[in-house]
Amino acid sequence: MAKKKITIIGNGFASLFFAGAFLVLPVFPFFAFFLRRLYSRYEITLIGNGKFVYFPAIPEFIIGKKNKKGITVDIRSWLWRRNIRFVEDQVVDIQDGGRTVLTTKGRYDNDALFVGIGPAFMVDDIPGTAAHTLSPCSGPDAMDEFMARLNELPEGIIYVGFKLNKRDGFVAGRGGQMYECACLLDYALKARGVRDKFEIHLFSPNIQPGDKGAITDRLLERGIILNYGYEPAEFVEGGMKDADGTFRKADLVLFTPGITAPKWIKKTCLPVSVGGHIDVDKYGQVKGLKNVFAAGDCSNHESPPPWVPHQAHMAQLRSEAAAKNMQQVLKGDAPSHTYRFELSCILNMENDALWLHAASDDKPPMWNIFPRHSKKLIGVKNFFERLYLLYLRYL
Ligand SMILES: Cc1cc2nc3c(=O)[nH]c(=O)nc-3n(C[C@H](O)[C@H](O)[C@H](O)COP(=O)(O)OP(=O)(O)OC[C@H]3O[C@@H](n4cnc5c(N)ncnc54)[C@H](O)[C@@H]3O)c2cc1C
Repeated sequence: MAKKKITIIGNGFASLFFAGAFLVLPVFPFFAFFLRRLYSRYEITLIGNGKFVYFPAIPEFIIGKKNKKGITVDIRSWLWRRNIRFVEDQVVDIQDGGRTVLTTKGRYDNDALFVGIGPAFMVDDIPGTAAHTLSPCSGPDAMDEFMARLNELPEGIIYVGFKLNKRDGFVAGRGGQMYECACLLDYALKARGVRDKFEIHLFSPNIQPGDKGAITDRLLERGIILNYGYEPAEFVEGGMKDADGTFRKADLVLFTPGITAPKWIKKTCLPVSVGGHIDVDKYGQVKGLKNVFAAGDCSNHESPPPWVPHQAHMAQLRSEAAAKNMQQVLKGDAPSHTYRFELSCILNMENDALWLHAASDDKPPMWNIFPRHSKKLIGVKNFFERLYLLYLRYL
């Protein structure tokens, strides 16, 4: 029987969780290396840049505990151990109802396709975003540049902010990460002995002025100025302009806009949701197409709760369901695996930490064995990171 050809686009969280779950044994035992070469029902090809970035660690660049080298993994040996063919290239189009993938250098056909191309940020939403702001979401280089500029400042005003895309009924943006950045900035400036020379502002048009809660309390404890409800009309040289033309001085702006799927998706045969994501159903199937699945930050959800964000954790839950569903449809069965909605993230403030959590089935995180508010959670967060990077590098 001819092997089924599977194509995976991207080598971020969604694609790697998908590949791991698709191959049944998510952790790689030694003998599986030989078995997969002797017998496999699938011929799997992954197209990407070969570099996995562990984004959740980027805010910790601010306190000097993480760096680009430590959080980037060359993913080729992980793929090789799993007998997955790697193509280093960028996909530029998807045609024939998903059966053909075009890259800058070639053309790949498949029996089933998984799309895990991650987010695009709405940098055109507020004018001046690309020219006058930096974002941890743009990756390690942007965060290094922010730190280089920060370290040159003897004093100053720093704005940290985010905007969310809620048009698909859930949180397509990065709020938690920016709270984390603001708190870590406070910690780093105190450690440098210059905190009193800096103003740190936290702004977002998506938070109601006067909003209260555990995160707000942590920001206030640190003397962070809250500009809840604020959206600049434009980012300009040296600051921001308000809608009425007022200029606000800012020496540095760390800002992350709302999320959609990358723009090139619009010219492919894949459907796009109102909010700009790849339109998928509750099984992760791209609507209207056969044997095409998508998960992670590039895709929307069917009937999501309004609080669910784009997260690596959600990418995992979605990709694992999509992998099982792809196996079902390739056997001619109907897909049956859905996924839970869960927000789960540890907000590291270096001298304190919060476990932010919500779940559609009200299940607590990790059977409630950890406190929700404790500095010890930083160790838990680091443990998850080390374990995952170890898995990618060696298993
Ligand atoms: C600063 C920061 C902190 C975060 N903290 C947390 C946290 O604490 N917990 C949590 O759960 N989540 C966190 N997240 C969110 C998490 O990182 C994302 O939700 C996750 O990376 C999404 O996975 P993904 O695979 O969809 O996208 P990505 O991880 O971005 O991967 C996308 C992949 O697609 C590839 N690609 C893109 N376009 C193409 C193309 N045209 N052709 C081929 N390949 C392509 C990219 O190279 C990349 O390999 C954080 C994110 C940031 C930025």
